[in-house]
Amino acid sequence: MAAGKLSDSTHKIAFIDSHCHLDFSELAAGLATHIKAAQSAGVERFIVPGVTLTQSQRLLEFKTDHPECAIAAGLHPYFIDKHHDSDMAKLAQHAKLNRAQLCAIGECGIDATCEALAQQVSLFEAHVRLSNLLELPLIVHHRKSHHLIAAVFKRIKPKFGGVIHAFSGSKQQAEYYISQGFKLGVGGTITYPRGEKTAQIISQLPLESLVLETDAPSMPLNGYQGKVNTPKRVVEVFEKLCEYRPETPNLLGAMLYQNTKQLFGIS
Ligand SMILES: [Zn+2]
Repeated sequence: MAAGKLSDSTHKIAFIDSHCHLDFSELAAGLATHIKAAQSAGVERFIVPGVTLTQSQRLLEFKTDHPECAIAAGLHPYFIDKHHDSDMAKLAQHAKLNRAQLCAIGECGIDATCEALAQQVSLFEAHVRLSNLLELPLIVHHRKSHHLIAAVFKRIKPKFGGVIHAFSGSKQQAEYYISQGFKLGVGGTITYPRGEKTAQIISQLPLESLVLETDAPSMPLNGYQGKVNTPKRVVEVFEKLCEYRPETPNLLGAMLYQNTKQLFGIS
């Protein structure tokens, strides 16, 4: 189906960008414009993950200023060399105190292309424990680390599921995460020719296990390389997904919206 045609028929579908870093400096200058553009395209809500201690704390104020955003708290493995030893304890304290303001624990996880892998593993374990304690889902970052994440889940079973952000991997890996109560984040990867395999796998998974995301300002879609990614592009991710899924766009859109609301407890 041509994207333009689909755009005409999907203009009334509501979306949630389940993973966008709207508080990052690349988006800060034009934030009101980015949010407005997304809303005009049908993107009603935005999930903004935590990546460091101070940034997670600052998200409380961000949420007050931007009530259309739901926020999380986490220590991203990408910043492993910047986190202090005491940060996890402080993050846990912050999350407990502000439990009602949070929709998830994360962005956390394991990135095998970053340093201090053993430290990353124990930090991720602490996030899984925290999510179990506070009864919140996890936002999980992975990169060459499915085996390490599965090993953590074997030691500490996540009780409230979550999302495997920007999922790419085998069908077997996808099914494993689904069996653990997780949904898979579908983002710009599927717009690239190299994302064809991931898209094929995603097309065969239960619709209840999928959510849409952009990872803005990162991970620009095919055709926008080198540009800052923005949350309105979640609609283009959706249009690409429509090419692979058997459902009608209306049904697909409604289910993805529902999945995201249910996972993050958004009213
Ligand atoms: Zn992210």
